Amino acid sequence: MGGSLKIARIWGIELQIHWSFLLILVYGAFIYSGAARDPIVGALYGIAVILLLFLCVSLHEFGHALTAKYFHVNVPYITLLPIGGVAQLERMPRRPWHEFLIAIAGPAVNFVLALLLLPVAIFLTGVAMREGELRGATDIFGWVLRRMQQPGLGNLILYLTMTNVLLGVFNLLPAFPMDGGRVLRALMALTMPYVRATRIAVIVGRGMAVIFALLGIAQFNIFLLLIAFFVYVGGRGELEAVESRHVLKDIYARQALNQNARQIYTSERLDKAVELIMTTYQADFPVFDLSNNFVGVITRSRLVDALRSGTNDQRVSDIMIPAREVPVITPDTNLADVWDRMMEERSQVVAVKEAGRFLGLITLADISEVIQVMGAAQEGSGTAKAGIERFGEQAMQAPAQLPTQSPSQSPSQPQPPIQSEAPKEDVHHEEQKPG
Ligand SMILES: [Zn+2]
Repeated sequence: MGGSLKIARIWGIELQIHWSFLLILVYGAFIYSGAARDPIVGALYGIAVILLLFLCVSLHEFGHALTAKYFHVNVPYITLLPIGGVAQLERMPRRPWHEFLIAIAGPAVNFVLALLLLPVAIFLTGVAMREGELRGATDIFGWVLRRMQQPGLGNLILYLTMTNVLLGVFNLLPAFPMDGGRVLRALMALTMPYVRATRIAVIVGRGMAVIFALLGIAQFNIFLLLIAFFVYVGGRGELEAVESRHVLKDIYARQALNQNARQIYTSERLDKAVELIMTTYQADFPVFDLSNNFVGVITRSRLVDALRSGTNDQRVSDIMIPAREVPVITPDTNLADVWDRMMEERSQVVAVKEAGRFLGLITLADISEVIQVMGAAQEGSGTAKAGIERFGEQAMQAPAQLPTQSPSQSPSQPQPPIQSEAPKEDVHHEEQKPG
């Protein structure tokens, strides 16, 4: 994602922080600056609180990511945003049961953390409790909130315990595409078609989004509003992606091949490719050597780059994608699997081969065209079309840089990530500032 800083690489997963995350650190410093006698100490404590909070969010995401990896779904990176973390899955898990476990693993991490921290919190703050800070048995929440305002090791552990419980519970709300919504869809998908399960989960999620939005307005809580927006828009994006994929499942590579595709030879100059692009509708060309072996692919974007660099005396072989970097599929592969393969290998094109013989290329543009035609034929509705356009858009940008999910990008997400939103703003700090 643009504006993200790589901070670590753990188990092959890159941990990134979005720049806007800095705003949350500033917010933490500001909120706590009045909490200690020295504002600097308070501010530093605030920063430490936020960093530890995001450590818990990261562990939540690693819960998803490592479970996904266990089921052979690659997770290239995890991004931390102010409203939570995102583990970017390269494709959706194939079985509902896998999706269920991947989705539930995040909140499970938070509950385990809370269970581990709870005895420490009780041990460190128990004395204060006995000394009469507690104003009656019903004051337990008030006491926890008052404690969380003041710097101190015991209070910090108490805060983290409570936050992990909240993180776990909040993410389990059935607000698809949040974890709880994914759990719901996975459970429904055990007994009904995946597309229908997704539709129902999205409807429930929209209801939750409306509730979040109303609460957000009532409490002047910008985080809840952002999450409501993300749930609403993200749910629609995922539904479109699932419907598109469903269309692709019934079509095989053989049917999507362009029978009249033009080809280029390694020895030819770029002018020839430019000429072909100008005079045909084709944007990608298979490249052959003089003994008619398939040796690579030349794409429009590569060609444009080469022309921009002003060296059009280059040969085709200088700028082509070598055949070894082009995934190979059989003509009997369905297009949904072809699409997955492109995402996994970050390639915009696959070569179709049967018994070693080259049959043709399939590009992301071909796939979005198939969705457009088939989607229109099957559904004939406006929503299907919107999905197709997004899908196509996504198709073009996906291989260069698999985008992370953020509220603004979520609608065009073909492989929706597992998302967790942390209710990490502290309403409590706003309500009662220590003074
Ligand atoms: Zn999660």
